[in-house]
Amino acid sequence: MEYTVPKDGGLPNKPDAILRPYLSVSGFSPKHLRSEIMLAAVFIAVTLGLALFCTLAAASPVPIVRIMVDREKQSMRVDGFDLLVHESVTNRKLAHESKRAWLQIQCSLGGRMEVRTSAGDRMRAAGPLHVTSLGGFIRVGSSQYRDDLYIYSFNGDCIAVNHVDLEKYIAGLLNSEMSAKWSMQALMAQAIAARTYAIYQMKESSTAHYRGLKPPFDLDSSVKDQVYEGANMERYKAIQAVQQTHGQVLTFDGKPIKAFYHSTCGGHTETPDRVWGMRLPYLRSVQCDFCQKSPRYNWAYSIHEGDIERKLRAEGLLRGRLLGMRVVDRNNLGRANRVEIHGSEATIVVAATRVRDIMGTVNVRSTDFSIARNPEGGANGGNFVFVGHGSGHGVGMCQWGAKTMGERGRRYTDILSYYYPAAQITKLY
Ligand SMILES: [Zn+2]
Repeated sequence: MEYTVPKDGGLPNKPDAILRPYLSVSGFSPKHLRSEIMLAAVFIAVTLGLALFCTLAAASPVPIVRIMVDREKQSMRVDGFDLLVHESVTNRKLAHESKRAWLQIQCSLGGRMEVRTSAGDRMRAAGPLHVTSLGGFIRVGSSQYRDDLYIYSFNGDCIAVNHVDLEKYIAGLLNSEMSAKWSMQALMAQAIAARTYAIYQMKESSTAHYRGLKPPFDLDSSVKDQVYEGANMERYKAIQAVQQTHGQVLTFDGKPIKAFYHSTCGGHTETPDRVWGMRLPYLRSVQCDFCQKSPRYNWAYSIHEGDIERKLRAEGLLRGRLLGMRVVDRNNLGRANRVEIHGSEATIVVAATRVRDIMGTVNVRSTDFSIARNPEGGANGGNFVFVGHGSGHGVGMCQWGAKTMGERGRRYTDILSYYYPAAQITKLY
């Protein structure tokens, strides 16, 4: 269909110019009318569809999550293209560095902060700083972050908090928490578990207080919560897994659950009750025959007598020389509950989780361990040897188990209902 340029000289793509031919009665014929009605119907349908999409999008936006991504003593350096810095509370603009730039931020000034720019400017700020980049990424240390960065001064340290769209956060963490090389179904299950965990923590942090103050972040970027190394770690397959599960979370009784997960359960998953004394009715123990291929299914860690004595003494758990250590209590799945530390001057019994923390959770990978004294010395010559199964706390989804299930053709919904049997998958937005 053609239409003429309006006499007022308006551009033909103005809405009234587009609609005018439909309003004209000249050139009327039943055939024209039919096609015109169809075009009008398409126009109305597209308009209504767009309106509905916009309404839904407005009703359920993707949440913004706050991740603590770095903490540095006294000062912090931030890099990026086209950096904008504002004083967060007053929104006063402090600097706009075009092109490639860096900022050096001093946080050891008793609550006040100082910003030095690559252009040679220096300015003081009263409180937290808000940094954005028109280039899209802000670098802190060796990682780049999307969206907004807030920098706080806390006890003389600089704390960097990334405020980022939750879906982008999940896309960034998948390749750190799993591997983008793993099966798509395992990645989709992981995306839902990680999204659920984040939503749960966001709700928790909204009511949390620390010495009367609200924490300025929802999650830590380390193994304390979920490992997140920013946009550097985004991979195409991980982004697809996030897009295909957009907004989906695990719920129980209509609410997002605390969706714990871990590397390798070693044969059975655990309940949070037995690990932390925390009762969560939706997390049960299930048998897992899928994680035997994990490199951490069986492990051993040996440590020199002098080193283990020093570590235990520093925690006040050893009096005199260390004569021996043994597990004195296990739960019905074989995980250690309590460990006896036999010193020459006293014998002390402690929780196995504490022993694991003292030795380092990357060394003693789970509480499913035994301790032996080896006069010959273990792999690195150490003569106290921890031998165990699995890696992580054992609660919720076993990641190596999910990997195998995905490789065997199980869908992400099967994987999630296996490890979180009481939960449902719900689309939150
Ligand atoms: Zn497992």
